Order: sequence, then C-alpha cells, then structure tokens
Amino acid sequence: MHPDSAFEDVTIQLESATKQTQGQAQLHAVPHQVARRKGLIAWLSCWGVALVALPIPLVHFLAPPLLLLMGPLVGFIAYKVYAGAIDIVGGGGECPDCGVSIDLSGRDAHWPLDVTCGSCQARLLVRLRPVSPA
Ligand SMILES: [Zn+2]
Repeated sequence: MHPDSAFEDVTIQLESATKQTQGQAQLHAVPHQVARRKGLIAWLSCWGVALVALPIPLVHFLAPPLLLLMGPLVGFIAYKVYAGAIDIVGGGGECPDCGVSIDLSGRDAHWPLDVTCGSCQARLLVRLRPVSPA
C-alpha cells in the first residue's frame, strides 16, 4: 500500500422513506502530511507566479506583492481543505425501493449522505453503519 494512503472499508446503510438496505463503501482519508505538502505547494506556487509576474510591465506593481501576501494564506486554506477530507473512492449499495445499484464513488464522506436514486427518484439517506462489537 502507498504510504500516503489511508483506506478504510465501511458498512453503510441506505434508507428510503420506508425501507433500508446495506452496502459497502471504501473511504480514503487524506493524511496530515499530504495535506501539509499540498498546502506548501499551494503557497510556493503563489510565490512562483509572483516571480514570473516580476518582469511583466504594469503587472509587476500589483501581482507580486499581492501574491507574496496571499501565498501563506492560500497555503493555509489548501491545508485546511485537504486535512480531514474523506472521499468515498468506491462502493455503494442497492436502492431500498427499486433495487437498482447506487454508486457512491467520488463523493465526499459527510454523513449522512443525501442521495437521489437515479431510477425511481427516491430520496435516500446514506448512513455510516457503526461496527457492531464482536
Ligand atoms: Zn430506486
């Protein structure tokens, strides 16, 4: 496994107004060292653009000081966005109402998820199912 990766398999529960089914999803959390690196890259790329803008007439009065100031801020925001972000990389379940498979990959894992079935248009609530103590 890649050292930057933190994958986790979870059981999820899909609820319609009347029924519920179970599914599986694979989550990927962004580790803090990756978030820090992304923040640093965002910061440095601001400063990089500032350097590039330096020889450009007129632009060099405004852009470099602005970008130099914005660098740490952009870096911090990028860090905050990446740190603690959890994506659903794969998985899903079946619609409790019509049985069609619901694909949740590519979504942010903010529980509960609000999903609309593409087949029967049922509004589904997807919850993280707590692991029952064995
Ligand atoms: Zn459905």
